[in-house]
Amino acid sequence: MKIRQSLCTGCRRREVFFFRPYSGQRLCKKCFVESVEAKVRATIAKYNMLDFNDKIAVAISGGKDSLSMLHILAKMELARPKASLTAVTIDEGIKGYRDEALEIAAAECQKLGIEHHVFSFRRLFGFTLDELAEKAWKTDEKLTTCSYCGILRRRALNVAASEVGARKIATAHTLDDEVQTVLMNVFRGDLARLAKEKPVTDDVHPKLAQKVKPFCEIPEKESALYAYVKKIEFQASPCPYSSGALRNDFREIVNSMEEKHAGTKFTIFNTLERLRPALYAVVDTSQYADCVECGEPSSGGLCKVCELLKKMR
Ligand code: SF4
Ligand code: ZN
Ligand code: ZN
Repeated sequence: MKIRQSLCTGCRRREVFFFRPYSGQRLCKKCFVESVEAKVRATIAKYNMLDFNDKIAVAISGGKDSLSMLHILAKMELARPKASLTAVTIDEGIKGYRDEALEIAAAECQKLGIEHHVFSFRRLFGFTLDELAEKAWKTDEKLTTCSYCGILRRRALNVAASEVGARKIATAHTLDDEVQTVLMNVFRGDLARLAKEKPVTDDVHPKLAQKVKPFCEIPEKESALYAYVKKIEFQASPCPYSSGALRNDFREIVNSMEEKHAGTKFTIFNTLERLRPALYAVVDTSQYADCVECGEPSSGGLCKVCELLKKMR
């Protein structure tokens, strides 16, 4: 006879496969999968992320988080026939890394019957990330590769959403990503970003698609496990430029705190959610204008993308 301890705390029938330290749940595979899907549905409802007839651009990189999210959204879409999903992938032009991810992303979309479009830095900006990294290395450019990759990717995603006719972009930022970002913004003293980087971004300009983050309450570990249980293929190797990213330091700090004090990630996330209204009262919420060069939304005269490309040229 099996001892009680080894039975799932959800169904009380099947064997335990996963222990969730922050809630004390011991779940079988089936209950684990259902709990992740239920959490994503609850997050979407809590933050009012999606309307029943939304056209959504789902940003997929080919990694575990974005492909797990695509599977869950695809499953939900079946129940919302008026909604539609289009997958978009940004090809930064990172040799030997992005090529493999693109193949995996395309294959997953084909399996799910979801339209997939690729937008490359080369087509949108005239350079691949590899070329920009080399140029920056030869000049006195102070930004890291990840910083200008981020600036260009934000723009590329917005262009992608506009080209596929979507007003919303779903990104697979996990709870871990969100908490790392909170701490990075605290360490930089960037109150504006602390306030504005949230589960659903503000609708600030007609040319800017809103970003929604259905995985913002899913720990990265659980997103990976979901992909594993559902046998989703994904690219596991890291980006060659990621080793110097500041984010890695915060990942280590947060993971070691979570290890010692289960629930730390949710506490940080929820604390910021409660603080946000107070933050909005002290940050600059001035509206966007159009960039004098490219006409895209910008907080200054020249947008960050034009500023960066000018330097690189
Ligand atoms: Fe871009 Fe850095 Fe991410 Fe690589 S790790 S894709 S360079 S942001
Ligand atoms: Zn169970
Ligand atoms: Zn511009």
